[in-house]
Amino acid sequence: MAATTRFPKKTVRDVSVAGRTALVRVDFNVPLHGQRVADDTRIRAALPTIHHLSESGARVVLCSHLGRPKGKRVSGMSCRPTAAALEEMLRRPVAFSPDAVGPRARRTVDALIAGEVAMLENTRFYPEEERNDPVFARALASLADLFVNDGFGAAHRSHASTVGVAAYLPAVAGLLLEREVEALTRLLRPERPFVAIAGGAKVSDKIDVLSHLLPQLDRLLIGGGMANTFLAALGFDMGRSVVERDQLPAAEHLIAEAKERAVELVLPVDVVVGNFYLEQADTRVVQVDQIPADWLAMDIGPLSVERFTDAIADTRTVFWNGPLGVAEWAAFANGTSGVAKAVAASQGFTVVGGGDSIAALKRLGLDDRIGHISTGGGAALEFLEGKVLPGIACLEDR
Ligand code: ADP
Ligand code: MG
Repeated sequence: MAATTRFPKKTVRDVSVAGRTALVRVDFNVPLHGQRVADDTRIRAALPTIHHLSESGARVVLCSHLGRPKGKRVSGMSCRPTAAALEEMLRRPVAFSPDAVGPRARRTVDALIAGEVAMLENTRFYPEEERNDPVFARALASLADLFVNDGFGAAHRSHASTVGVAAYLPAVAGLLLEREVEALTRLLRPERPFVAIAGGAKVSDKIDVLSHLLPQLDRLLIGGGMANTFLAALGFDMGRSVVERDQLPAAEHLIAEAKERAVELVLPVDVVVGNFYLEQADTRVVQVDQIPADWLAMDIGPLSVERFTDAIADTRTVFWNGPLGVAEWAAFANGTSGVAKAVAASQGFTVVGGGDSIAALKRLGLDDRIGHISTGGGAALEFLEGKVLPGIACLEDR
């Protein structure tokens, strides 16, 4: 077994919550279809903490941001639909306050009895939220007598509802935040062999994570748009493929460092090319040294899928972030499906992050065969870069 490192912060399990009012920062930044929640993954992920607090006799006051309203009230970015979705999951009422602070919020909280749940309006409707304004933080904090941070996806932000309130209330972690940190910590101190699979559009998004993980890695598999830049750095002619020219030095550096550390770097040997960046493009499978000048590499080819699958098979720890091709288009989804199947079949501890990668897993119905699916996005990447997340640092130590 992997050495389990104990989560260093107090959680809702370490404090008595009966009779208290808990202000719970969640990450309900979900996609909406009009007034409906289009994907409720993040809401579902907060249920363990909500159940724990509610069943232990706390009054539960949830707050979150949604979208980027930039300090203004934007009707299409109200948190009301998230309260409605939560109500369905809990099968009991969730009170909603149309403000995050002030008299209407106060009245909503005062009307709760032990075990009941309320949701406040979008914290980012207030310009003070992203400025971490102390007066706003204090107003939010005044609604409760305990702060619980369970919004892992926002823990890399120093905002009033993620950090500011902790100056005015005892502050502990929620169960999702704890679970995310424990899973991601297992990638920083992995059981080996350890393989990372990186894809997606941009080298610049993920290169810092890969550099930080590199000393622990046995293998690094790169596909998707990212691989184009690495292949270009190795001198392959990528035709009209998406290549990040300004990232060529970073790619060269990572290639050299992998070699120095004896990390096996696995790049595509064949690719599916399209004649246009279009869903209905004509497609061909070619070796990476045979990419036609006016075509684009849009997926890894079948031989590469085989190599990637073999490279994943015998590992003890697997981290995957980023589709291996333009997986939202069926003609370029095979690489991603193949790798998703290999990750799902792994006997090791598997972690998948990234919205598009998770969407691909769900389309394939493989999401329940993964050790940990991170809802963290940018926060997870920063954690894996070795950064201290302010929304975690502000919580009480054990
Ligand atoms: P995640 O959300 O899992 O972190 P990213 O957002 O980094 O993944 O990357 C997903 C995007 O990468 C998708 O929009 C996909 O179309 C794009 N992509 C993947 N491979 C290629 C490629 N070869 N050329 C262009 N775009 C690509
Ligand atoms: Mg994405």
